[in-house]
Amino acid sequence: MNIALWFARQGQGHPDAAALGQGLDIVARYGEAAETVARMAGAMRNGWGLAPGERVAIVAANTPAYVEALYAIWHAGLVAVPVNAKLHGLEIAYILEHAGCAAAFVSDDLESTVASHAPAGLARIIRIGGPEWRAMRAAEPIAVEPRLDGDLAWLFYTSGTTGRPKGAMLSHGNLAAMSHAYVAEVDAVAPGDPILHAAPMSHGSGLYIMAHIMRGGVNVVPESGGFDPMEIAAVMNHWRNVSMFAAPTMIKRLVASPAAFEPGAIRTITWGGAPMYVEDTRAALDRLGPCLAQIYGQGESPMTITTLPKAEIADASHPLWLERLASAGRAYACIEAAVVDAEGRHLSVGETGEVICRGSPVMSGYWNNEAATAKSLRGGWLHTGDVGAFDERGYLFLKDRANDLIISGGSNIYPREVEEVLLEHPAIREASVIGRADADWGEVVIAYVVGDAPPAELDALCLSRIARFKRPKDYVFVDALPKSNYGKILKTALRALDANRQGGPGVS
Ligand code: AMP
Repeated sequence: MNIALWFARQGQGHPDAAALGQGLDIVARYGEAAETVARMAGAMRNGWGLAPGERVAIVAANTPAYVEALYAIWHAGLVAVPVNAKLHGLEIAYILEHAGCAAAFVSDDLESTVASHAPAGLARIIRIGGPEWRAMRAAEPIAVEPRLDGDLAWLFYTSGTTGRPKGAMLSHGNLAAMSHAYVAEVDAVAPGDPILHAAPMSHGSGLYIMAHIMRGGVNVVPESGGFDPMEIAAVMNHWRNVSMFAAPTMIKRLVASPAAFEPGAIRTITWGGAPMYVEDTRAALDRLGPCLAQIYGQGESPMTITTLPKAEIADASHPLWLERLASAGRAYACIEAAVVDAEGRHLSVGETGEVICRGSPVMSGYWNNEAATAKSLRGGWLHTGDVGAFDERGYLFLKDRANDLIISGGSNIYPREVEEVLLEHPAIREASVIGRADADWGEVVIAYVVGDAPPAELDALCLSRIARFKRPKDYVFVDALPKSNYGKILKTALRALDANRQGGPGVS
């Protein structure tokens, strides 16, 4: 089925129920919002002449209009390509071109960035709130285009180890399974329950839009569109019983802020995307109450591999409480998860290996990338690249990442994409980028370089090529990088070296 049916049905059955909020206000009710979505879908199909299956991007910071654009795309049988609004223009252009997007919805602040990097096939750039956007909302409405569970709904672009993003193909069925799993095991959303989107809708937070529409909840965005603890408290105190998805860094910022939450303001704060230290979870429980849930997932199995539910995180009286806080919880009901060795043999309880999974939320592959699909989905299992072990009760303990992904403030950064930029500088001979543990960000990006360029020049180079958040926080100039007999740079040795430098004198 087409996941857009959920929106249309809420419009039919509960036209007066709040659908979209911004700050303290209701900005649309289900009846009018569903009507708008049907009209915008009509404009795309009949006005623009797009056919089911064509791709339409959304490059925008969080706004209630994001939800309308997303659902109009699905209503029309098209495929949504939500793009992280914090990416560099060149990175955005790569995704728009790779996905073959026919059109893009953009926010005011990103219109010129997208326009100046637009690939040839991008026939339309629609500014949200602009004249074309308004005209679409007056077009003739159409019925929801029938879609099968396996039909493509969302191309979820993640970074690749090669440095190029890959588009995880998520179907209507994947998104429906993910939404059911969320409501059943993470957060029992009821009609009227709000979710506050303070993290980007192009990623984790956006994936929870659907569950709230399925249940007749309200999708709310902060007025500022971003993450400000004081604003979040004000919005939650106003709406009450609010859920939110947050990276661990965001939860730490909430805990450290003077923001005051009234009893009943928070329903659930779900964290995922990066590990949270046990001490931080305890501090968050003290400060925010028994509202924390954890999910472990990735774009390839959106938000859904294992989960540690609210009741277990809050149950301090359980003898295994602290131990379990250090885990990523147990597999969702719709997921089969295991740990395998390098040859793909299934390992026993307590043994460490790569986490693999299969089940109804798992993607069908990467868009236009057969080699990566075959590697990632070999044997019918999604190979997550994460390393962990299950205990005898089925709790997953994530140890490390198989690849060298850096997660800084909840955002993924693959070293190779930063290294490639640094190596463009004529005075840089070699570069190796690693993550350094950091109390605020989880990890920060550190570049080890062989050569003698001024750091300011390297910074400028990075800013001209990749997103600001991927720029190294520190450059360490060395005579040589640690290498194996085969000449491969040894990142593990480099990380150890870096940790020693942090502990000892002479830190650069
Ligand atoms: P993304 O595809 O951007 O959602 O990133 C997914 C990656 O984030 C996973 O493969 C893990 O490495 C990491 N991750 C996600 N959730 C958790 C979690 N609860 N604990 C630790 N790492 C996580």
